[in-house]
Amino acid sequence: MSAPEFGVPEHVTAHATRVLAPNPSPMTLDGTNTWIIGPPAEASPASAVSASASCEDAGPLRDAAVVDPGPLHEGHLQAVARAARDRGLRVAVVLITHRHADHTEGAARFAQIVGAPIRSVDAGTLAGGDVVDLDGLSVHVVATPGHTSDSVCLHVPADASLLTGDTVLGRGTTVVAWPDGRLGDYLDSLQALRALVGRGGVHVVLPAHGDPVTDPARVLDEYLAHRRSRLQQVRETVADLTDDAGRPGGRPGPEAGGDDTDALVEAVVERVYAQVPREVWPAARLSVRAQLDHLRESGQVD
Ligand SMILES: [Zn+2]
Repeated sequence: MSAPEFGVPEHVTAHATRVLAPNPSPMTLDGTNTWIIGPPAEASPASAVSASASCEDAGPLRDAAVVDPGPLHEGHLQAVARAARDRGLRVAVVLITHRHADHTEGAARFAQIVGAPIRSVDAGTLAGGDVVDLDGLSVHVVATPGHTSDSVCLHVPADASLLTGDTVLGRGTTVVAWPDGRLGDYLDSLQALRALVGRGGVHVVLPAHGDPVTDPARVLDEYLAHRRSRLQQVRETVADLTDDAGRPGGRPGPEAGGDDTDALVEAVVERVYAQVPREVWPAARLSVRAQLDHLRESGQVD
């Protein structure tokens, strides 16, 4: 599967339609995927007659959720609203996977366009364990802190799909956005998702960036293995750097301990993330901070 055209809806599962936002970048991959979740198009009373009648004539619209409206881009937001309408759906609620701007910047404007409330962890209107009912279609909210403290995944048992926000991406790995994101939380969240997959509840991952993933067990195992190997590399690099010179990076350190950490982070990024494009080094620095915190809190480095 390759990235769809911006603003052109793509029906990915019976219940999920993707609309790609035009905000590609090294951090957002092809752009932000805005997801429309609702009853299947075939089962929608509106779509059965849509060839000959307008939505108003086509019977009651059925409830849908829009997940992560994305950037404040009027054309994108209108395309999402239109895609829902064309599927015979009324946007009953806007759900937010986490607070980052590439997911939320357009949320207020989108909510205004469709006249729906926004539910988010930040606003205290969404939490792990909640079940959102869309005309009989259940969406289960799973708390998955780590990428950020407010990250959630959304499980749709009816088509065994899991919307992962930035917790699991369509390709590559994600950043632990320190200090909001915490590595220990992230590892726990990946384990919880792996357990959910192991129980047979998830056949496809619908990420906020990149294409759907149809072998979720493999991707979660890879994510866990990647985190463990990175952590091992960071632990070894820190030991190496501090043994060699007695000081991070072998440079004379200033008085303030915080600056010592800055120098150490820089030295670790240069070694451990040498193969990663420099444009994503700002994200790598945050992940290294998160890893250092995790290693210090668990007594694995000083
Ligand atoms: Zn994010």
